[in-house]
Amino acid sequence: MILDFHVHIYPPEVIRDARRIAEREDYFALLSSSKVHRWATVEDLIEAMDRDGVDRAVVFGFAFKDLGLCRLCNDYVLEAARAHPDRIVPMAVVPPFAKGALQEVERARSLGAVGVGELFPEGQGFDIDDVRQTWRLAGLCHELGMFLMFHCAEPVGHRYPGKGTVGVKEAAGFCENHPEVKVVFSHFGGGLFLYESMEEMRLILSNAYYDTAAMPFLYDHSMLKAAMAVAPHKMLFGTDFPILDVSRYVSRFDRAGLGAETAGALLGLNGEGFLNSLGEWAWPMGGGCG
Ligand SMILES: [Zn+2]
Repeated sequence: MILDFHVHIYPPEVIRDARRIAEREDYFALLSSSKVHRWATVEDLIEAMDRDGVDRAVVFGFAFKDLGLCRLCNDYVLEAARAHPDRIVPMAVVPPFAKGALQEVERARSLGAVGVGELFPEGQGFDIDDVRQTWRLAGLCHELGMFLMFHCAEPVGHRYPGKGTVGVKEAAGFCENHPEVKVVFSHFGGGLFLYESMEEMRLILSNAYYDTAAMPFLYDHSMLKAAMAVAPHKMLFGTDFPILDVSRYVSRFDRAGLGAETAGALLGLNGEGFLNSLGEWAWPMGGGCG
């Protein structure tokens, strides 16, 4: 069973108007003009999932600074999940400070969204380490049984568009401030998982999870065994589709020599266990779309 926990899709309007949108969304401009950038619609995603044997995917749009653009992405992702209820698990994106952001999270939840993310702290201009900036969103997600997902990056290593400055320190700060809400730190949390082996940090990080998104750009296969040894139930397979797809991961996973049980946990069972742990997250039955 393969569950891809990190997938972006884009409404056709965003793809069509990308240039115009980029004029007022500088982070979107940066990422969408990067040489590794790719677009994908829901049709592209389902085709790739069928090709690569991916059973289900946790899917989100692009976390814009503008709430209206986020809402457009959310509507598209929620509609995709309605059309493919057994394949697509929807998430919502919001700019946390925008007036109406919390109502948008509630709306998305009522239509089936299970979490909020992947948010871009630097791109959207907020500090995940500052409780004054995070308490509303974290509290609401806790109330609604949703989780959060933040883009994170390594504090060292090569630069790339969108890498950002949010890393292990900021992510750990979020966990310290918000033990109440589950949080997935993308891209291995910039290395945060390693501190799960530090006794006092294990407690602070008890609500933290990590995805493997963009691994082929960042690490070689040797770190996977370490990651699965340190946090065996908290590592979630995510590709960052459409930038990367499953094929780019499989050879690395094979070379890592994880063994069938560990590979099974990483590729799907951990993610499924995580979603089930959220409690009641059934799809909205009978539409219910306003
Ligand atoms: Zn990311």
